[in-house]
Amino acid sequence: MPRSTIARIDLDALRRNFQTAQRRAGGARVMAVVKADGYGHGIGPVASALESLAPKYAVACLEEARAIRETGLIQPVVLLQGVHAEADIAECARSGFEPVFHSFQQLAWLERLDTWPAFWLKVNSGMNRLGFHPDELAGVMSRLQAMSADTEILGFVTHFACADDPDSAMTAQQTAVFEKATSSFPDLMKSVANSAAHFRPGQPMFDWSRPGIMLYGGSPMVGTTGPELGLEPVMSLEAPLISTRMVPAGESVGYGASWVADRDTRMGMVAIGYGDGYPRHAGTNTPAAINGQRIRLIGRVSMDMLAVDLTNAPDAKEGDSVELWGRTVGVDEVAARAGTISYELMTGITGRVPRQYR
Ligand code: PLP
Repeated sequence: MPRSTIARIDLDALRRNFQTAQRRAGGARVMAVVKADGYGHGIGPVASALESLAPKYAVACLEEARAIRETGLIQPVVLLQGVHAEADIAECARSGFEPVFHSFQQLAWLERLDTWPAFWLKVNSGMNRLGFHPDELAGVMSRLQAMSADTEILGFVTHFACADDPDSAMTAQQTAVFEKATSSFPDLMKSVANSAAHFRPGQPMFDWSRPGIMLYGGSPMVGTTGPELGLEPVMSLEAPLISTRMVPAGESVGYGASWVADRDTRMGMVAIGYGDGYPRHAGTNTPAAINGQRIRLIGRVSMDMLAVDLTNAPDAKEGDSVELWGRTVGVDEVAARAGTISYELMTGITGRVPRQYR
């Protein structure tokens, strides 16, 4: 039997999730965040599927922006980390990439060049990862204005630390800090909103929003699943059942003999493991599904296989396809069981798993 472990990608669902983001963006334009290989869905097919909807894309690094161009797409691509080397600035100018500059080192690189790309400036409104402190912004702007007559500063970007937590006051605080810091430059654009911000009542969305996870159907909000927020799963991770057996009461299954049958149990082995990116920390009781019927994992996840309890699916047979996450079992549920987030699960699916698009 061929190894038919596969990630099916529903590009119509992706487009509908983009439209949901657009409806929730309160008049802001929406740039599609497709970094990390389109959150594991394949950057080329994802960006192409959004071509007629997304006026801009956002990625982390130059290599990802190149991948978008190699797909033949011409929209501007925002580089959320700016560039990592001076030599890359010229390529941004040639290729329509919009770096987000966040450091004095990057300003010094600009100072040495004649041709600049259109670019954004990152404001550190409190997350303390990247960006200029609000007190530094006026100085940065006058330095830039002194450098060149044809500077194209598009605007300001900031990023939220706690927008996924509805009870946190930090998003409102960061928004206020950002608004104050940028208020002297009313003609420039502003971008703050990650996916979670699209679900925060009253959140100012400014000119551009930057949703990522919601496009792929994952929930950006703690304790809520994507479907509960009106999002559709885009990835369905599937693998075949390659063996079934009865395990007598008292016997164990898998490495570490960590799961022991408390009664005679019909179980099966599924051809997917942590070598495919399925999380090893998703142990006993993590849900999966077979023929639309929910079942559960038992024992430890191996590199290439995992075990399931088939008590709930008496008709299941070798060759049947098991859904690890998708429409019957939400990726957010699996993430919660594995002590992680859907972002990590989706981006962690390895190159061994072919992506199939429809
Ligand atoms: N903007 C920036 C700067 C980011 O780093 C990210 C993702 O990490 C996003 C937007 C999209 O965030 P999300 O996937 O939570 O929508």
